[in-house]
Amino acid sequence: MAGTGKFFVGGNWKCNGTRDSITKLVADLNDAKLETDVDVVVAPPYIYIDQVKQSLTDRIEISAQNSWIGKGGAFTGEISVEQLVDIGCKWVILGHSERRHIIGEDDQFIGKKAAYALSQNLKMKAFADSISNWTDVVIAYEPVWAIGTGKVATPQQAQEVHLAVRDWLKKNVSAEVASSTRIIYGGSVNGNNSSELAKQEDIDGFLVGGASLKGPEFAVIVNSVT
Ligand code: PGA
Repeated sequence: MAGTGKFFVGGNWKCNGTRDSITKLVADLNDAKLETDVDVVVAPPYIYIDQVKQSLTDRIEISAQNSWIGKGGAFTGEISVEQLVDIGCKWVILGHSERRHIIGEDDQFIGKKAAYALSQNLKMKAFADSISNWTDVVIAYEPVWAIGTGKVATPQQAQEVHLAVRDWLKKNVSAEVASSTRIIYGGSVNGNNSSELAKQEDIDGFLVGGASLKGPEFAVIVNSVT
């Protein structure tokens, strides 16, 4: 842990879940004993955010998995940052590799989304250019070959890249931002590999996909910082 904030664990539920399965997942999360010194956030699919918000303990904050690039209006199928804030979202994931590779979002588009989301006080889990206020940013490093494959980066591999990202921030933004920004790892994190990863100096948390759909295992990952 090098970033000066708390350890950060996000659960990215992606396009998974039904009303029933999410009711069960929320019940498991509500029952879980979570380390107090960890920021915990879950990102349900848009249509279940309200259900989760109504039933999930306040201990866990809610993120969206995407947001529109600017103010709402005639943009069929999109959800605006203002709407997310209105229903109680505190965070948004932007620039996930699945949105880049499958949907075709590019750096410029993501950068604009990030700037807009931050301007409306939504915090952000991802990397983007054109950010003037870094306080609310968490960067996720996720090797694409590790996402959903069961092939996790070794703690050394992840540490090496996290350090490189931190050095990049130091050179390109500022030493202060480099030391205070949390850099989290994602890609096949599970209850068995999280504690070794968490020991690495520059790993400040995790973005968890598949394993975040199982409440008890997600709790193990949250608690792996100790
Ligand atoms: P995974 O997904 O944990 O299922 O590999 C991580 C992510 O894509 O955020």
